[in-house]
Amino acid sequence: MNQQLNIDDKRIDGKAVAAQLRRDIAGQVRARREAGLAPPGLAVVLVGEDPASKVYVGSKVKACAEAGFVSKTYRLEADTGEAELLALIDGLNADAEIHGILVQLPLPPQIDVQAVIERIDPAKDVDGFHPYNLGRLAGKAPTLRPCTPYGCMRLLKNAGVDCVGKKAVVIGASNIVGRPVALELLLERATVTVCHSKTVNLADEVAQADIVIAAVGIPGFIKGKWIKPGAVVIDVGINRLESGKLAGDVEYDSAQLRASKITPVPGGVGPMTIACLLQNTLEACEAVEASLLH
Ligand code: NAD
Repeated sequence: MNQQLNIDDKRIDGKAVAAQLRRDIAGQVRARREAGLAPPGLAVVLVGEDPASKVYVGSKVKACAEAGFVSKTYRLEADTGEAELLALIDGLNADAEIHGILVQLPLPPQIDVQAVIERIDPAKDVDGFHPYNLGRLAGKAPTLRPCTPYGCMRLLKNAGVDCVGKKAVVIGASNIVGRPVALELLLERATVTVCHSKTVNLADEVAQADIVIAAVGIPGFIKGKWIKPGAVVIDVGINRLESGKLAGDVEYDSAQLRASKITPVPGGVGPMTIACLLQNTLEACEAVEASLLH
């Protein structure tokens, strides 16, 4: 009997998993409204005219509407000063209709990103970037979790991948993907190696991995021949090619010949990020109610 899985069995369909999560969230919001509870509210702040950021913000606002959330969008000029942005965040921190605040990154150079992240009330930090939320994740007691890493873990779970005792190799060590996804994998009791631009012999590291998570930002950087046969591959990279097409960080065609499961780009991790943002906003909203009951 041919034991080889066909390509469709291997492909982790992030689009379908995200759509299901979004339907579940919309159902919960409907139930909230029927019970006389307020819908979750998300504030999205965009500073400047970065075309990719505009697209991301548009997708987030649309996803909020489809899930029945309240959403408020704030579009600020590219030359907005840090004080003005911090004052807006103070107002949103105090706004009872708003349970989640998302400031779209990157920010213009005159604004200190860390100061902005740290000004957001941790209870409304639905991006999960505040040191409080990152610290909770590091301390094995996660609260609001960074959306893309949370999405990766949900995809692994949905695909039936048990991380316990597995060797996981993360390529990329950024604050928004690589580092927090390493903490998530550790929480699931994988043995985790984090690689970055100074890592020596990257191919050897990847070749040992049962689970590969690529978050580098270079198209096709992780070669298919590096992948251990049977490994699970999660490709976080979203790279726009000159042709206009999107490509991941992993050489998909050759990697899928060796992987037991693999995410495509597009249609893998990408759709999960927005779904997890909605999930975090719903959780932030429920946490406020729970705190009022105590
Ligand atoms: P980043 O530029 O902040 O970090 C890239 C990381 O890759 C760094 O830690 C760097 O050390 C490492 N790196 C660079 N060159 C390397 C090399 N030669 N060898 C090994 N490591 C190397 O990027 P990021 O924000 O973490 O994003 C990474 C990718 O993920 C990008 O393609 C981005 O578009 C994508 N992304 C996707 C989503 C999503 O929703 N799916 C969300 C965030 C980021």
